[in-house]
Amino acid sequence: MLTFDNKFLQELPGDPETTNQLRQVFHACWSRVMPTPVSAPRLLAWSREMLEELELSEQEIQSPDWVNALAGNGFIPGMEPYAMCYGGHQFGHWAGQLGDGRAISLGEVVNSRGRRWELQLKGAGVTPYSRMADGRAVLRSSVREFLCSEAMHHLGIPTTRALSLVQTGDFVIRDMFYNGNPQAEKGAIVCRVSPSFVRFGNFEIFSMREDRETLQAMVDFTIDRDFPELRDYPEEERVAEWFAIVCARTARLIAHWMRVGFVHGVMNTDNMSILGLTIDYGPYGWVDNFDPGWTPNTTDAAGRRYCFGRQPDIARWNLERLAQALYSLKPEREIYDEGLMLYDQVYNKEWAGILAAKFGFSGWRDEYEPLVNEAFDLMYHAEVDMTEFFRKLAEVDVETPALAILQSAFYSPALLDTFKPRFEQWLKRYCQLTQADGREPAERVATMNRVNPRYVLRNYLAQQAIDLADTGDTSMIDELLEVLRKPYEEQPGKERFAALRPDWARHKAGCSMLSCSS
Ligand code: AMP
Ligand code: MG
Repeated sequence: MLTFDNKFLQELPGDPETTNQLRQVFHACWSRVMPTPVSAPRLLAWSREMLEELELSEQEIQSPDWVNALAGNGFIPGMEPYAMCYGGHQFGHWAGQLGDGRAISLGEVVNSRGRRWELQLKGAGVTPYSRMADGRAVLRSSVREFLCSEAMHHLGIPTTRALSLVQTGDFVIRDMFYNGNPQAEKGAIVCRVSPSFVRFGNFEIFSMREDRETLQAMVDFTIDRDFPELRDYPEEERVAEWFAIVCARTARLIAHWMRVGFVHGVMNTDNMSILGLTIDYGPYGWVDNFDPGWTPNTTDAAGRRYCFGRQPDIARWNLERLAQALYSLKPEREIYDEGLMLYDQVYNKEWAGILAAKFGFSGWRDEYEPLVNEAFDLMYHAEVDMTEFFRKLAEVDVETPALAILQSAFYSPALLDTFKPRFEQWLKRYCQLTQADGREPAERVATMNRVNPRYVLRNYLAQQAIDLADTGDTSMIDELLEVLRKPYEEQPGKERFAALRPDWARHKAGCSMLSCSS
């Protein structure tokens, strides 16, 4: 029996209107809304770890009551569905009211250890915030969100989670590449789980509307529910300290993304979690051949605003928008400048630690900088796979450096040939510095393999799982979920899930480029 405690509804002002009709919603943080039923819900997958957190059994989640609830066809006692009102800056411009256009929260569960988890259906039908769209989600994007949420968690990266993946039995029309070629695709619903789904945009909307009262309510609520460490903080200093914590958490999150080669793809302020979690898995992607300019999002291809290498700057820009929103409550420039400076500091410190660990040094030293820069430059120009490179680097015997060990990280034999002399030079220097560092080889390998994953949700693997699921075969979803539980461990027999992107996937939709159409 789950215990619900729906604080967001109880403590924040809501919209008196309860239809799901499209509208602007003022002076309210949420609107009550009913999910739109689907025709034939089928539970395709679920997360064991999330079941444990929620203290649900495998039998329960497969029961008709739960499958219906996870599809928006019914409720478990205590559930009270609603959609949140928020705004956001999209691609650098204020976009006005956005809100949960296809996400419907079911309520907040508190488990026996006092941990709070909000359950939220993504793709359960229209809400007052659906704008021009249908409130639905397709199977392909739902598989991607389900798998990646859990994969990120197991990588040790802050993220919203996923409890379940349900196929709806209905079709959804999508023009995947916005090129006048609409197709009927299978519909699905993911039940996402998070301590909070609040975004920067939940604050921006009220600031932009000059609704200070609701903005204050949103801030007080968030601090009180989600930042217990600030409860006893002196009133006058709370906002400053809170903003600083958000900056620090965001910095750590982005450093993690950069560590594993994750590119979010749509870092609009409505997709930035106030808790510093990875949120809203859309056209995200994983870097195969190292390339700071790579963006998985076709909508972003021209501007590359959200490409891999710009993520740290964009997160800071987004924090500046949050600062702007909070300014009307606390018009003291210094506190925001301090928070943003903290962002830079925390990011730089985290990144230095990550670099040291990725390359196997006992700690960061500035003298490593030219070596590290040369490595990234070479990896970029020679098209070297980021994940494979760092795993193989751990296998290099620093007493007898041999480039052959790194060979499997190259996509192109021709480029390997071209860059061989520079790489050999680099490797020699790397081995010298590693020897000078004087670490036990076993210890060096162990630290490297703790930060350099063996298995990530490579874009083409997700696409293969999707193509199979589309034929009714969910075995690859299960298999990926299993392998990605232990991303840092070698898993004999599972090597194929560590394989470099095959040639056929290089330019295939879903494998190297993704659209926002989901
Ligand atoms: P995104 O940047 O993709 O996370 O979404 C931006 C806004 O569009 C959010 O307010 C979403 O809720 C909304 N949205 C995206 N897809 C749909 C859809 N299929 N139906 C309704 N709203 C959507
Ligand atoms: Mg979003």
